[in-house]
Amino acid sequence: MKPRTKRERLVVELSSKLPAITEAQIRWGKKHCFPHNAYRCKDEMWCSECGKMWVDVTGQKEGYIKCPYCGERLEVKVSRKTKDNAVSYLTVVTTSGDFQVLRHFYTARYARKERDTHYFIDEVCQQWITSDNKEIVIAKAMNMGCRGWIHTTDMSLKQSGNIYYPHSYDIDGYVYPKVNVLPILRRNGLRTSFHGVTPAVLIRGLLGENKYAEMLIKTRQYSMLEFYMYRGGLSHPWAVNICNRNGYIIKDGSMYDDYLRLLDYFHLDTHNAHYVCPKDLKKAHDELLKRKQKIEARERMERERIERMKKEKELKRNIAVFWKKIQPFLGLQIKDEGIVICPLESVTQYYQEWKTMHHCVYNCAYYARKESLVLSARKNGKRLETIEVNLNTFKIVQSRGVCNEDSKYHKQIIRIMENNMAEIIRRAAS
Ligand SMILES: [Zn+2]
Repeated sequence: MKPRTKRERLVVELSSKLPAITEAQIRWGKKHCFPHNAYRCKDEMWCSECGKMWVDVTGQKEGYIKCPYCGERLEVKVSRKTKDNAVSYLTVVTTSGDFQVLRHFYTARYARKERDTHYFIDEVCQQWITSDNKEIVIAKAMNMGCRGWIHTTDMSLKQSGNIYYPHSYDIDGYVYPKVNVLPILRRNGLRTSFHGVTPAVLIRGLLGENKYAEMLIKTRQYSMLEFYMYRGGLSHPWAVNICNRNGYIIKDGSMYDDYLRLLDYFHLDTHNAHYVCPKDLKKAHDELLKRKQKIEARERMERERIERMKKEKELKRNIAVFWKKIQPFLGLQIKDEGIVICPLESVTQYYQEWKTMHHCVYNCAYYARKESLVLSARKNGKRLETIEVNLNTFKIVQSRGVCNEDSKYHKQIIRIMENNMAEIIRRAAS
């Protein structure tokens, strides 16, 4: 993208004047952007920092150890891996003109057992943010898919995100501790740490995009700040004020939010410091949660009991309806061409018919339908089809075999039924 506006042209010019990454920054990045591990396989250990291998007979499988070659403090990991490639971002926070600038350096470490370790560091993206919260991005080109940088290209002006994925260049890098911020951000509470929040996200928040960001950072409620910036809202902002008045620091933002919702559930006063500033948050939270789970279990059981009773009552009513309906047809037997057709005379028989025929005659509670008479057609005791007759029109509504398919006797059964419909009409009238 070519610079079009005055501001874009200014950013491109200022960007070209930014200093190259310093040796100190590179050193810091190597130390802080990657895990430092000693990989143990049997008695052999190797260092992810220098690649050197040594024999260690202490059998230490966890904890920390010092590399005998480079002196780095390493975390011991039991692993058979012989190479360790790691990718990370180093973010340098600085200012230029009236812009807050975030410079993101792609950093990669390629470590191999008994080989020299190599690093690759390349500046891939700069976010230029103004005090009125406008952002201009300069970055390298990317392959399709996220963060596949094309390192051979030069950085150029980029569109920052789209409506589906706004702020797509927000990189959560390790922030180099020498931080320069615009006076307005300093006034709003930003010093050197971003408190676990992606730098660009916190900067936008402090420039007014998030109502409580400034209050939370100034009152050192960092855990709540992190939770709030990712959740995008505070359910009980007044509770934080009460904490601040009582010098109470929230240690776990997400658990604290959960705890406040539990207080609401039990109608406990979230304006009362006694509840809002618990000495042991985890204990207070777990106790309320346990109580809530007990109540919910009771409620669930009660709901299930009522549901069961309703079903029982309905079944009883259905049986009564069915019993009245079936009376005239008890003992009815239509015999022709070796096929015997009898009505289903009890709910149990509906159930048995459903079990062998795998259709919906029982599940759909046909027995409860006043206008429907259901019969079973059999040959030599084997069920062929289930027939439904409408008792208002005396027409065959359906006749279905196993799994709702027609059997090979389908036409025959229909014919026999139609020939004998007069008997059903006579019985229905009696
Ligand atoms: Zn080493």
